[in-house]
Amino acid sequence: MSGSQCARLGGPLVRQLLDSVDSVLFDCDGVIWRGDQAIPGAARVISLLKQRGKKVFFVTNNSTKTRKMYADKLSSLGFDAAEDEVFGTAFCCAAYLRSECGLRGKVYLVGSDAMRQELEAVGIQAVGVGPDPVSGKQLDWASVPLDPEVQAVVVGFDEHFSYMKLNRAMQYLTQKDCLFVGTNRDTRLPLEGGKAVPGTGCLLQAVETAAQRQAQTVGKPSRFMFECVAQRFGLRPERCLMVGDRLDTDILLGSACGLKTLLTLTGVMVPDYYVESIADLLPALQG
Ligand code: PLP
Ligand code: CA
Repeated sequence: MSGSQCARLGGPLVRQLLDSVDSVLFDCDGVIWRGDQAIPGAARVISLLKQRGKKVFFVTNNSTKTRKMYADKLSSLGFDAAEDEVFGTAFCCAAYLRSECGLRGKVYLVGSDAMRQELEAVGIQAVGVGPDPVSGKQLDWASVPLDPEVQAVVVGFDEHFSYMKLNRAMQYLTQKDCLFVGTNRDTRLPLEGGKAVPGTGCLLQAVETAAQRQAQTVGKPSRFMFECVAQRFGLRPERCLMVGDRLDTDILLGSACGLKTLLTLTGVMVPDYYVESIADLLPALQG
């Protein structure tokens, strides 16, 4: 055994760990599902945890769906899940702007329609969603018309990200009192077969670079993501377990907030082998 305090969870330790928590927070992609496929056994685990009186939450950095869309996806994959158990960054970002920032004005949104819907649900109007309107004439980039009611720029995953959106976000952020919020900083979204696509972190960094400002992010590993759940359900951190497939988001969030943490190897980005310590190579080398 190495000096690390990471233990392989199995046997009687599973019961011990579960007895020590009241709530389990699950990362979604890589733990509950992979793309559109449920992780085998996951739905049964959720339903048995609930039967044993545990509170269960689904916590995802993916900002492309509303709570309702996630609840529908979960039930179509065979999970027993309610809308208020889902904490996606579209929902949490809207909660952050409303309750933490007390935002009253409009948002210039580089993001999805799902984000627009979650913002609207808390009374915040978003402008800018969707593809840029195509114009036949040469655009005057230096004098884009700005909406005087916009008080925040919000960046999430946006498949219609463009130079014009980047420019508009930058113009709003030149105003010093304009808030700047991002959903998350995942730079790459790993796909099957070693492939990957650019994540929201790439879009956010482009806007940060242009605006010469740093955004506040709400998604994992930001503590707000846990606080969002904890406030609503009165959770005690030491009685919570965070289950994830990434050290830099899920496990970092868990340890920053004082939760117990559990890493799974069902994510897309896993090594071929792992050892407790490099010293585990010694017997083979010395033999
Ligand atoms: N953001 C986007 C746009 C995604 O598609 C995904 C995964 O599918 C994520 C973030 C990461 O989600 P999770 O936190 O559930 O792993
Ligand atoms: Ca994940």
